[in-house]
Amino acid sequence: MGTIQIMDEVLSNKIAAGEVVERPASVVKELVENAIDADSTIIEVFLEEAGLTSIQVVDNGKGMDEEDALKSFSRHATSKIEKEQDLFRIRTLGFRGEALASIASVSKVTLKTSDGTNSGIELYLEGGHVKEQKPTAFRKGTDMTVAQLFYNTPARLKYLKTIQTELGHTIDLINRLALGYPAISFRLVHNGQTLLHTNGRGNIQQVLAAIYGAHNAKKMIAFEGQSNDYKVYGYATLPEVTRASKNYLSLFVNGRWVKHYLVQKAIVDAYHTYLPIGRYPIVVLYIEGDPQLTDVNVHPAKHQVRLSKEPELLRLIEETVQRAIRGEIHVPVVERKE
Ligand code: ADP
Ligand code: MG
Repeated sequence: MGTIQIMDEVLSNKIAAGEVVERPASVVKELVENAIDADSTIIEVFLEEAGLTSIQVVDNGKGMDEEDALKSFSRHATSKIEKEQDLFRIRTLGFRGEALASIASVSKVTLKTSDGTNSGIELYLEGGHVKEQKPTAFRKGTDMTVAQLFYNTPARLKYLKTIQTELGHTIDLINRLALGYPAISFRLVHNGQTLLHTNGRGNIQQVLAAIYGAHNAKKMIAFEGQSNDYKVYGYATLPEVTRASKNYLSLFVNGRWVKHYLVQKAIVDAYHTYLPIGRYPIVVLYIEGDPQLTDVNVHPAKHQVRLSKEPELLRLIEETVQRAIRGEIHVPVVERKE
């Protein structure tokens, strides 16, 4: 008799969790991205001890009915992709359908949700197993609490860094999401203290002010430019405001935060000799183009992107930012209503 066995689902989810769920910030990322995909306009994140004790994400999105709430914790359960062609025109942040299954397998999850058509449902899961299920009064939206992350994977728990480091990862993440979605109001609360609050009115400068301070936000100039295939816009500081790291260059491709070395380089090149060596500007750059030109399915963390017609895009970025800092572009405000 052969010795190969098919693993049970909870075990395979726990293994997959090793890839998707590295630290509290990865949980926050998955939950907030789900809230965004559910068309929420208000998203609140409450952390206790940087999320090591508890992570709660509350949204006012479309919510789930009882059947979907139960299904959402199964592996490869997704409402976002049906057929193979969908992979090449992804407009949602999630599509793999494995985040909730992975997260639930290494924590204790309480989910309250309602799609607004009937009263809500509440589920409690431990290590991926549903332990309790009951009706609950809940308005349309979702409230998910992930407690005791990694309680059943001590090795993973050991790798977590200090509260300050873990919190730093989540703050960076929420800053990026707030910049990516200025038309969504974000609130990040840690141990009862509000760390970031954006108003969700689509005004990028308000988000920049919430993150970098009103003083710096005022010194950023709006820019926009267009080529055959791409539109780029955003805000950039004048060369007098600089930082010691490239972390202040935020890039978004069709709303998705990405890292892209050559795009960063194009921005820095735009400043030419204006920047002292080792200093970088604060820039937020939005790139928009046909999703067919941008392949995001490169890595599970999905921070990388392949861009078609890259030389055209890089030229557009460098020229647009350069014209902006030379004072050749006069756009009063740039807004993102999406
Ligand atoms: P994916 O986002 O890749 O589809 P997830 O495991 O993150 O996979 O979520 C599974 C499914 O659960 C989603 O496709 C969606 O239908 C549902 N879901 C998860 N979170 C929410 C939420 N906050 N609001 C509404 N539906 C949600
Ligand atoms: Mg998801």
